[in-house]
Amino acid sequence: MRFTKLAVGVALSVALTACGSSTKTTEQQAPAGAAAAGGLVGVTMPTKSSERWIHDGDNIKSALEKLGYKVDLQYAEDDIPTQVNQIENQITKGAKLLVIASIDGTAITTQLQEAADKKIPVIAYDRLIRNSPNVDYYATFDNFKVGVQQATSLLTGLKVLKEDGSPGDAKGPLNVELFAGSPDDNNATFFFNGAMSVLKPHLDNGTLVVKSGQTQFNVAAILRWQPATAQRRMEDLLTKTYSSGAKVQGVLSPYDGLSIGILSALKSNGYGTAGQPYPVVTGQDAEIASVKSIIAGEQYSTIFKDTRKLAEVTVKMADAVLKGGKAEANNTTDYNNGVKVVPSYLLQPVILNKGNYQKELIDSGYYTADQLK
Ligand code: BGC
Repeated sequence: MRFTKLAVGVALSVALTACGSSTKTTEQQAPAGAAAAGGLVGVTMPTKSSERWIHDGDNIKSALEKLGYKVDLQYAEDDIPTQVNQIENQITKGAKLLVIASIDGTAITTQLQEAADKKIPVIAYDRLIRNSPNVDYYATFDNFKVGVQQATSLLTGLKVLKEDGSPGDAKGPLNVELFAGSPDDNNATFFFNGAMSVLKPHLDNGTLVVKSGQTQFNVAAILRWQPATAQRRMEDLLTKTYSSGAKVQGVLSPYDGLSIGILSALKSNGYGTAGQPYPVVTGQDAEIASVKSIIAGEQYSTIFKDTRKLAEVTVKMADAVLKGGKAEANNTTDYNNGVKVVPSYLLQPVILNKGNYQKELIDSGYYTADQLK
């Protein structure tokens, strides 16, 4: 009887996989699971200097361990050769699958070829790995939408838009400056392009003005997402463009770490007082320091990407592939890595500000109330 049920389960699972659905029951997974259990999964993350990657790594590790896998979790402190070595070591140690959040999305093609030669599947985590045919899946958030949301919240903060998206009272011209992420991170262009798709009409009609003239990705980009580099660039902008009395009213920042650097530059140039409030500054990741800053009325907003969900999706993908099946993808068009379109699973980001942090972060158990005090 049990055998019959399992056999039906396997047949059903194969049929569902063939038509692209991921619906499975525990029973259907059981037989192959026994074979895959205990295998080593190599997980490489870029850095511990940003909280989000610590959460990502911890969540993936514990979820894989719960399923019976062994996990080698490595952080490379944003150093490319270190990450390359870590991936090589994991291949040597006999990893059965690799989950990689790359530092430079173009720098690991050789290692991925080694993995492919050994039939080790690869899941790109959060950041697309470029220029390699050997990327099986990609789990991430809708990165273009992250940029759209960052720009939308900038406009809402500036009162160019109301919360409901209808036109607000501010007519401009309003001075804004633009920052972008690391040029070697594929996400950074998605964020910037998403943001520009929203900002461009307002720049074209003069509601927004980038007084420095620095509107191109390559000049706005901050290598390796370094807060200190963003701080320096903001200092420079303030000295060169805003020293004759003009004020900056909005800053598009793509990541909380950069926002903190930007806010410190603004503070040391006299912003953050009753007479001269901070400009509207955006962010990304809902890192604790930035959420506190939002609560204190300094940073205006961030983008919340629930890393618990990303880990969950990735672990499901890994488990399906390790059991010899296919993983679920919900986007097979947007992420061309230069060699192929990588089947992707995109999660939805959320704009976070003073109005909804309680619901999104505390009520959902992402942080405790104490962590944000
Ligand atoms: C991630 C962002 C993060 C940034 C800096 C990007 O690839 O998608 O969530 O803010 O890297 O770590």
